[in-house]
Amino acid sequence: MEYMATSVKQPTIGIEGSKTRFQVRRIYCVGRNYRAHAIEMGADPDREVPFFFMKPADAIVQNGSTIPYPKQTTNLHYEIELVVAIGKSGESISEENALEYVWGYGVGIDLTRRDLQNQAKRSGRPWDMGKGFDNSAPCTNLKPVDEVGHPDTGAGEIWIKVNGEIKQRSTLDLHIWNVAETISYLSGLCTLESGDLIFMGTPEGVGPVVSGDTMEGHIDGLEDLIIKIA
Ligand code: MN
Repeated sequence: MEYMATSVKQPTIGIEGSKTRFQVRRIYCVGRNYRAHAIEMGADPDREVPFFFMKPADAIVQNGSTIPYPKQTTNLHYEIELVVAIGKSGESISEENALEYVWGYGVGIDLTRRDLQNQAKRSGRPWDMGKGFDNSAPCTNLKPVDEVGHPDTGAGEIWIKVNGEIKQRSTLDLHIWNVAETISYLSGLCTLESGDLIFMGTPEGVGPVVSGDTMEGHIDGLEDLIIKIA
C-alpha cells in the first residue's frame, strides 16, 4: 500500500475573544481529586498522592459539538472538570512558582467508558481504553489568566446538568490537590510544555449519559460547555 502522509492535524482549542487557537500537546488528567468522588469510586482519599492518566490530544472536542455514542460501552459517564492550560516549559516546578506556568483555563468533561475502566481496575490493566477513546475530552474555549485569574484559589462553583437537570455540583476549593500542587507534582514526573492541558478531577455525582442527552457544564468565570450525544 502506498504511504499516505499528513492526515494528522494539530489538535487545537479556541481562545475566548481571539482568532488565535491554542495548540494542544498532551492531555493529563488527575484521578480522584475530590474526596466525595474518591469515596464514591471506592477509594480512600486520605491515603493517596496525586495520580495521573492521559488522553490523546486529538480526543479534544470543541464546545457546541454533537458526538457519537462511543463504541464498546453501555455505561458512558460524564465527569465535569476544571481544565488548566500550560503556557510555558518547565520541570520540577516548585508549588510557589507553579501558577506562573498557567496560560489559561477552560471547562472540560472527562468522558469515561465506566464499564471498560472498571474491567481494567479489576484486572490490574491500564485505563487507556476506558478514558482515552475518540471524542473523550470535550473542552470549552480557553480564557487567559489575565482575564479569569486562578479559579481554584477561590470557591467558584462547578456543575453539570444533563437535559437541564443538575447532576454534579461542587466548588473548586474542594480539590484535594490544587492547581499549584498538581503542576508541581506532575512536573516532577514529566517536563511540562506549552500546549499541555490538565483535567483537574471531578466532584461526586458522576453518572451515565445516553444517546440524545445534552450535557451543560459550568464553572464560574468561564464559558459554559454544551455537548450533545447523537
Ligand atoms: Mn476525571
